Amino acid sequence: MAETRDKIRCPVVNIAAAGDTVLVVGPEKLRLRVQSLVLKAVSKLLGTILGPDWKEGDDIRGAGLPVEILLPEENATALRCICAVLHHQVKLIPQIMAVNDILRIAVTANKFGVIDALAFASEFWLCPPNKGASDLIVLAAAATLFKNIQAFRDITKALILNYGGFYLDLSSEDVVSVLGERVFCLLEEQRGFARLKLGEILIGGINAPACVHRCGWTSKYAFAYMKLLETHNLWPTALSVVGEAIERAHRMPHPVPEESSAECRFGYKHCAPEYRDFIRYGLDDLTSRIGICLHCFHSNRVGPGFCQMAHGYQYLSDQ
Ligand SMILES: [Zn+2]
Ligand SMILES: [Zn+2]
Repeated sequence: MAETRDKIRCPVVNIAAAGDTVLVVGPEKLRLRVQSLVLKAVSKLLGTILGPDWKEGDDIRGAGLPVEILLPEENATALRCICAVLHHQVKLIPQIMAVNDILRIAVTANKFGVIDALAFASEFWLCPPNKGASDLIVLAAAATLFKNIQAFRDITKALILNYGGFYLDLSSEDVVSVLGERVFCLLEEQRGFARLKLGEILIGGINAPACVHRCGWTSKYAFAYMKLLETHNLWPTALSVVGEAIERAHRMPHPVPEESSAECRFGYKHCAPEYRDFIRYGLDDLTSRIGICLHCFHSNRVGPGFCQMAHGYQYLSDQ
């Protein structure tokens, strides 16, 4: 009777309608009907669980009945999604997933050795847009397990550009178990470095080319530019959220000096300094460099600066 009640509570999810195996997953006993050959082909561990040593199972399969395999310690949501991907059942893969479910999928896929088989599906799950910092750090952990260098870089870049709080506040047991605590130090270091570079670029904008003669033309524009930095909250002490500061710098208008300058015999050459163009290259270069390189992260090479390597490939190979 108890078994009958279980089956009523958890109907079989037909990932492979004619599959020869039913995985009974997690404490909730979610039943996933799958084709054992598909799972054996991609996972050594699943190959062992479903393999020829499991004689009883083979006997039942021989009789045309699906075999039930109990996996009570696995995460049901994660294994359902992994099996759906491996069986190319796109309709069974949720369009929107909580980041913690994505991390559970990554942990389970890593355990069963099917990370490579999920590479393309994980591209959609690891997109950082419109996610808060507490979600992004979970996605960063998932990206590490999926060995996706580009996603890890994009996610850590979003964390550095758009978050102004303490990174250690984002720590959780699940994240630390994958990334360790070093990642929080690296994020703090790179954000601090990015703030310093941004301040250097903005203050360096004062040197935008103008008249080199002592007519005051350069000074009146430089003064107006510095006042603009202040009114747009771009003084080096006000660069808490780096991405917002870069946006403000891009939107800052051209300075209009209030003072007049002296007569200049080269006045016919005077033109307003192009401060925004002058700093734009530095801002774009800085933005392109932000983000932690997963390859360097694993090899302990990454420091407070940026990755100087041209690794040239998107996924980490097994080393
Ligand atoms: Zn001049
Ligand atoms: Zn690198």
